[in-house]
Amino acid sequence: MSFPPPIQKLIAELSRLPGIGPKTAQRLAFFLLSQDRAALAELAGAILAAKDKIRYCSTCSNLAEEAACPICRESSRRHDVVCVVQDPRDVAAIERTHDFKGLYHVLHGAISPMDGIGPEQLKIKELLGRLSGGTVQEMIIATNPNIEGEATALYLARLIKPLGIKVTRLAHGLPVGGDLEYADELTLARALENRREM
Ligand SMILES: [Zn+2]
Repeated sequence: MSFPPPIQKLIAELSRLPGIGPKTAQRLAFFLLSQDRAALAELAGAILAAKDKIRYCSTCSNLAEEAACPICRESSRRHDVVCVVQDPRDVAAIERTHDFKGLYHVLHGAISPMDGIGPEQLKIKELLGRLSGGTVQEMIIATNPNIEGEATALYLARLIKPLGIKVTRLAHGLPVGGDLEYADELTLARALENRREM
């Protein structure tokens, strides 16, 4: 038995979400249908409000509600150290360690020729712009410990070391092939502390 077209459409839209297979999409669709209209309006409103209100920080490309994100606005942070991450969720993971007092730069991805993602699709131009100011003395590369993350780290090291900036990489100990955001706080804090020069 196939479902009426509006339900099929809803299932198809939900299937596009990461990690959601057809079965889960069906389960979610029927759960949503069981909710009252006000609850659904709240959900739809929250999605659109997040989309409309959130933009990229003009300095670090982290998610922000204003032109500058709260981390870049914090005057007590060190401006001479920049930690480069793939994703805003990695910023959140490192912030949870309370160990890093510098600033961030969010690339919004990693180099992945298989997926057609090259350096120009990432926020690398913005990073170079920042580094040209002369304030940054060290760049910590905290891309994920997998093939794409390592390729991105190497690419950045080659690009940035000639500028006379110290380039370091998070120490091993992070689960290889994993995502930074899933590392526990202690592991992440240690990897940060034991970072090595590239
Ligand atoms: Zn920022």
